[in-house]
Amino acid sequence: MIKRAFLSVLFVTCAVSMTLRAQSAQSVGSPEWVKAFPPFLLIGNVYWVGTYDLSSYLITTPAGHILINTGLPQTVPQITTGIELLGFNVADVKVLTATHGHFDHVAGLAQLKRLSKAQMVMSEADAQLLESGGKTDYRWGEDPTARFEPVTVDRRLRDGDTIALGGVVLTAHHHPGHTKGATSFTLDVREDGRTYKVGIINMGSINPGVRVRGMPLYPMIGDDYARTFQAQKALTLDVFLASHASQFRMHEKFKPGDAYRADRFVDPAGYRAAVERLETAFREQLAKEQP
Ligand SMILES: [Zn+2]
Repeated sequence: MIKRAFLSVLFVTCAVSMTLRAQSAQSVGSPEWVKAFPPFLLIGNVYWVGTYDLSSYLITTPAGHILINTGLPQTVPQITTGIELLGFNVADVKVLTATHGHFDHVAGLAQLKRLSKAQMVMSEADAQLLESGGKTDYRWGEDPTARFEPVTVDRRLRDGDTIALGGVVLTAHHHPGHTKGATSFTLDVREDGRTYKVGIINMGSINPGVRVRGMPLYPMIGDDYARTFQAQKALTLDVFLASHASQFRMHEKFKPGDAYRADRFVDPAGYRAAVERLETAFREQLAKEQP
C-alpha cells in the first residue's frame, strides 16, 4: 500500500513537470513511473531497461552485467522482460547497484537479487538505508508508505571507488544531499573511434519537508548539497543520464523506433544547466529558511 500524498510530493522533486492523476491507493505515484517503455541501446554497452520515467541501466560485459536502479516491485517484470528482449539473461547480472536509496529506485532490488544472485553494491552512506528497508531515511524514515523490502548489501562504496567487471570500470562519485549516500556513476564508452564519458548522475533535487539548514538526522545536509553541486559542476561528461528520464529529457531526445546514434545523448550543456538549476533552487531555499 502506498500513500498517494507521499508519492506525489516525492515525485514532484524527483521528476518535475508531470501531472499526478487520481489513482487508487494500490497504484504508484505517477503513471509514468510504471508506464512501460521499450528497452533500447543508449550507447555502446549501456542499455535502458527502465520504465517510462524510472531509470534502470543495464551495462553489459563479456563477464556478466551490471544493473543500476530497479524501480518499484511491480516494475521488476518490465526490467527482466526488457533484459531478455535485448537478448541478455537476468541470471548473468553479476552486480546490482543504485543511485540512491529511495524506494522508487531500489524497491525492486530484493527481488532482482533473488532472481540474479548478483552482488549488491551500494554507497556506504546508503547501505543502512537499504538494509533497513527505508526506515533510516532522514526525511521519509517515519513514513511507512516509503518502506521497501530490505536488501543485504555485500559491498560498500566510498567516493572514487570502482566497480570493475569484464573490462568495464564504473567510478562511483559520492554526491550526498538528496540522500546521505546518493551516488553518480561514470564510465568510458568507446564507439566509432571515440571515447565518450558517460555519466549516470544523481541530481541534487530537494524533497518537500527537507530543511537544507539541517535535519535532525542529517545536520550537515546543507554542506553536503553545496559540495555536491561543486563536484557535479566540476565533472566533465559527454553523455548525460540520470535517475529519472525527465531529469535528462530522455523523451525529447529519443522516441521508440529511432535509429541508434552513439551521440544521441551527448549533452554537456544540458547537464551543466540542469545542475545549475538545482543549485539555484538550493540557494533560494537556504535563503528563505529561518536559521
Ligand atoms: Zn529520491
